[in-house]
Amino acid sequence: MEVAIAGAGIAGLASALSLARSLPDSHIRVYERSAKISTLGAGIQLGPNAFAALERISPDLSELLKSVAILPECVVMRDFSTGKTLTTVKLGPEIAQAFGQPYGTLHRATLLQALMAACRAQSNIAIEFGVDFQAASLTPARLNASLIVVADGLWSSARQEMLGDVDTRLSAIAFRAFQFFSPGDFFSPEVQVWVGPGVHVVCYPVNAFDSLNTGTVLNVAMFVSGNRMRVLDRTLPKTERVSWATGVSAQEMLAAIPKPNEALRDLLANVVQASAWRVYDQAALPVWHREKTVLVGDAAHAMLPHLAQGAAFALEDAAELGLQMQTNSSVPAVALENFYAARAPRCWRAQNAARRYQKIYHASGLLRFARNSVLSLPLLSPAFGGLSWVYGFK
Ligand SMILES: Cc1cc2nc3c(=O)[nH]c(=O)nc-3n(C[C@H](O)[C@H](O)[C@H](O)COP(=O)(O)OP(=O)(O)OC[C@H]3O[C@@H](n4cnc5c(N)ncnc54)[C@H](O)[C@@H]3O)c2cc1C
Repeated sequence: MEVAIAGAGIAGLASALSLARSLPDSHIRVYERSAKISTLGAGIQLGPNAFAALERISPDLSELLKSVAILPECVVMRDFSTGKTLTTVKLGPEIAQAFGQPYGTLHRATLLQALMAACRAQSNIAIEFGVDFQAASLTPARLNASLIVVADGLWSSARQEMLGDVDTRLSAIAFRAFQFFSPGDFFSPEVQVWVGPGVHVVCYPVNAFDSLNTGTVLNVAMFVSGNRMRVLDRTLPKTERVSWATGVSAQEMLAAIPKPNEALRDLLANVVQASAWRVYDQAALPVWHREKTVLVGDAAHAMLPHLAQGAAFALEDAAELGLQMQTNSSVPAVALENFYAARAPRCWRAQNAARRYQKIYHASGLLRFARNSVLSLPLLSPAFGGLSWVYGFK
C-alpha cells in the first residue's frame, strides 16, 4: 500500500512510524514543507496517555523517551499575586501507579528528533524535506496513494482544500522562554502553575536540547488573555495567519502582565530566549475524513495548550490509525470511519476542557474567589486535577 503524509511534525512522524509497523508491506512517504525538522518551541509535558500511545507505536521509542524525560513529582498551583499555594496534584509514583505510565517533561525537539530517528530506521518510510504537499508536482503521488494522512497542523492547507475555512479564534498570547540553572542551584522537580486574572504562568524543568547549554533548564510559558491580549495582538508583528514566534525580552514579558508576586517576578525577570506566539482556538470539526484522506493531530483537533495534551493526542491518533489500518487494510474507508468514531468524541471533549481550563486559570472577581475556595478543600478537588479521563488512554 502507498501512503502519503503531509507534514513531518509530531502527528506526521508518529503516524508514519505507526503505519510502517502495522503495515510492513506499505511504502510511506512523508512530505515536509520546511527544509528540516522544526526545533522551534520549547518544553512539552507528556502525560501517561502519551507514553501509552508511544508504547503501542514503538515500545523502544517509549522507553528511550522515558529515560531522557524529567518525571516531575507534582503540579503545584499558586496564586499569581500573593504566591499562596492553592492546590497540589501528585504526579510521580502516584500517577504512574494509577495509569501504568509516568508523567514526563521533555524539550519538544528531543521528541521530534527521536521520532525522526525511529522513522529513519524503518526501511518503508521516506521523508522529503522542502516539499509543499499542495505542490502540483505532487499530484501523481497523491493520486497513486491508497491513503493520505493530513498532518500539516492548525493552518492545514490540505484540510482547507477538503473542508474550506474552519472557525479559529485568537484566545491568548503565549510567551515562551527558558531560565538556566547555575551549578549548585536547587531545582525542584515540579510543574508550577501560577494563576491570576487574565494570565497564568507554567514552569517545569526539562533536560536541555543540544542547542542550549547542557544540563537542566526551566521551561517557562506565560499566557495572557482578555484586554491585555488584544493590546499585545496590536503591538506584535502581524504574520500571515500562522502563529509564528516573535523574539521578546524579559522586560517586555513583565510589561505585558499585572504585578506578580516577588518570587515569580524574579523568575520572569531572568528568563532568556523569550518569544511571543499567538494561540488560536479551533472549533470542533464534524468531518475528519473523505474517501482515502484523513486528518490527524492539530489539523483535525487543535486545542488550547492548557491541558498540555495537543502533542499527546497526536500520538494517540497515530497509535489508533495504525491499529485501524491493520484491522481493515483492504478497505481504508472503513478503517478511517472507525478511526474517526474512536477519536473524535475524545478530542472534542479535550478541546472543550482546554477552553474551560483557561477560564478557570484566568478567573477574576467572584469566580476567582470560588475557584480558590474549592481548591482549598482537598476533598472537593477531583483526583489528578480532574484529568483521569485524559490520562487513562487505552
Ligand atoms: C505554548 C504551547 C505549549 C504546548 N504545550 C504542550 C504540552 O505541554 N504537551 C502537549 O502534548 N502539547 C503541547 N502543545 C501542543 C502541541 O505543540 C501541538 O498540538 C503539536 O505540536 C501538534 O503537532 P502536529 O504535528 O499536529 O502539528 P505541527 O507541529 O504544526 O506540525 C505540522 C507540520 O506540517 C508542516 N506543514 C505545514 N503545511 C505543510 C504543507 N503544505 N506541506 C508539507 N508540510 C507542511 C509544518 O512545517 C510542520 O512541520 C503546546 C502548544 C503550544 C502553542
